[in-house]
Parts: sequence; structure tokens; C-alpha cells
Amino acid sequence: MWSHKVFYKKTHPFVWCLQRLTLGILFILLCAGCRSEKQGYERLVFNGLTMGTTYRIVATVDNDSTTSLSLKKLVEKRLEELCQSLSTYIENSEITRFNSSAAGEWFGVSSDLYRVVVAADSISRKTGGAFDITVGQAVDLWGFGAEGGALSNELPEQDKIHSAQQTVDYRQLQIQSDPPALKKSDSELKIDVSAIAKGYGVDEILLLLENVHEVHGAMVEIGGEIRVFGHRSDGFKWTVGIQSPVRDRGGLAAKVYLDNEAVASSGSYVNYFEKDGKRISHVINPLKGAPVETDTIATTVIDESCMTADAWATACMVMDVQKALDIARSEDIGLMIIREESEDSLEVISNNSFKKYLVNEDR
Ligand code: ADP
Ligand code: MG
Repeated sequence: MWSHKVFYKKTHPFVWCLQRLTLGILFILLCAGCRSEKQGYERLVFNGLTMGTTYRIVATVDNDSTTSLSLKKLVEKRLEELCQSLSTYIENSEITRFNSSAAGEWFGVSSDLYRVVVAADSISRKTGGAFDITVGQAVDLWGFGAEGGALSNELPEQDKIHSAQQTVDYRQLQIQSDPPALKKSDSELKIDVSAIAKGYGVDEILLLLENVHEVHGAMVEIGGEIRVFGHRSDGFKWTVGIQSPVRDRGGLAAKVYLDNEAVASSGSYVNYFEKDGKRISHVINPLKGAPVETDTIATTVIDESCMTADAWATACMVMDVQKALDIARSEDIGLMIIREESEDSLEVISNNSFKKYLVNEDR
């Protein structure tokens, strides 16, 4: 285990607010800059909007490649398909239709939604429900869902919190593989895959790029969740900077080298509102139907799949630090936790599986 302390000056809430906007986008920075192109390769960069956030691709392609435009089209077509399936923000998406469907009946789903739900279910079981995609009603109640409202800074009434919590339970969601289908036993149960869908999207886009023979490497990022394969256009490994919640050490909490891995983060300071001096985060404790109350302010996970890294990062925001570290060890995932140790100091804890990816200066 590796732990160090960072002292910082507490900023005015307004400054936190401003930082929140920037950090939302910059939580994980792409450090894909090249020294110089290796012979035969060039660097192709494109970006856009998806899943309520931004995406960015940095690819290593043949230097006479003509794929630039067609690659972007291919990527955006797949992203659009994923949104139509997984987004609770789209009125007639597959997930929205499932959420308004009747209880007790099998609802046929695409392989995308099926795979996301199966992975989520497995992590729910391993975490005893700390990760639970049936948090939909609670997410909406606290104003972090499609209808928004979180910035109104009002806390919901206790009986409403209780009713929303009653609908949260991954065991009330049944999964069938052939043909892929879902069934809920409570008509009020609502699924929300925001904590895992971006990671799944990254995996799917990476797979798509890996199958294009003119692409020799890529870094795929959606809303701060990242996965890489191959090498950069200068022949070096991909490096990723992980934004610190405070502006110290050049704004980075860590910098990691990646080969064929994914890195994903979750935090209580990016999407939140403040009430009576308390930070009300968008990460929900499923057992309470209310935002987590924790001194953990950010988690970062390195794993082979971005989908699982994304889900584990959220789960580790819910579990206490020791439980998160124990589970990371048994699952063999890299984990870095940043927790508020006192008014003016943060503790950064990394396990050995995370530490092995650190760029030398951080070792
Ligand atoms: P971000 O979307 O900012 O990257 P996360 O990956 O941690 O952050 O996802 C947080 C979102 O996931 C919330 O906005 C909510 O929609 C949903 N969510 C909140 N709590 C949980 C939870 N305990 N398990 C699964 N999903 C959650
Ligand atoms: Mg997540």
C-alpha cells in the first residue's frame, strides 16, 4: 500500500463551483502529445459530443491513411446506437421504454443493454449492492437524473427518500440470456446505467478501431473514462494524467502509463450541490436511497475493461476505504483513492496494482 498526504488551502465554495465545471471535463486528461512521429505513422485526433458529455479519440494511423473522415463517421454511428439503447435522457431509448414497462413481463433487449446489465449485476453481487443500477428513482429524486433539479439545492422529504429507496434492489431485476431480456418485479423499479455506460462505450469504440487495419493504436475517451491499445504515433506508450481534486502538483493526482488497459474515475466533487455546508453528491448509497456521505472524494480504477473500471470506480465511492481496498485486491484491480483527511489535507492511497502503472516521477 502507498499513501501520502497533500495539504491544500480550502477554497471558497464559489471557486469549487467553477472548478466543478472544469473538472467535469478534465477529470482525466489525455496526455497523448508526441515527441515526433515515428516513420510510417501519423496521429489522427477527433472529438465530439455523446452520452451527455464529450468524447475524444487519438489514433495512430498509417501516414498515407485516408480513413480520417470515415473513422469519425463509423465511431459516431456506433455511439448513436449506444445512446439509443442506454440513455435515460432519450425519450424512446430502449432503457426508457424498459423503465416505463409493466412489471412481471419479459422485455426483450439488445445485446448492448444485456451486456451492461449482466456486468452491473455481477458487480452488485460482489459489492453487496454498493453498486446498483436500480438506483434510478433515487437519482431522479435527488435531481441528478434526466429531469435535473439538483441545482435547486433543495433536499427531498424523508418519506420520498424512503419510497425511492424501496424501489432500489438489483435482485428485483431478472436477466435472461436467450433471447436477451429483462424483467422487473416492481413496476416502480428504474434502471440507470450512467455509472457504467461510458466505460462500455469506450470498450466498444476501442474494439471497433482495433478492427480497422490502418489503425495501429488508439486512446479512446468518453467523459473522462479512457482505454488504450497499441502505441502512440511516436512509438511510445500512452500516458494518462489523472486530475487532482485540488490544484497541486501541476493539477495532477497521478500520471500513468497504459498498454492495453482502461482507467476510469468517479468523484463526489464533480457533480454535486452544496446544502448547509455539506456536499450532496450524485453518487447514491443504494441502501439509503440518498447521496453517499463519505470522506472519499475521488476514486480511480485501472482494469482491462473500461466498463468494469467505470463501475468499480463508482462502487468504491460508496464502500468505505478498507472495504474498497480489500475488494480491489481480490479482484486484482488498480485502485487509487483520494480522501479528505482533515479540513486542509487530502490522503492519496494507491494499491500495488495501481502503483505499477505510475510514471516514474510518482513512484
Ligand atoms: P460520472 O458519470 O460522473 O463519470 P459515475 O461513473 O460515478 O460518475 O456515475 C455516477 C452516476 O451513476 C450517477 O449520476 C447516477 O446516475 C448513477 N449512480 C449513482 N450512484 C450509483 C450507484 N451506487 N450504483 C450505480 N449507479 C449509480
Ligand atoms: Mg462509473
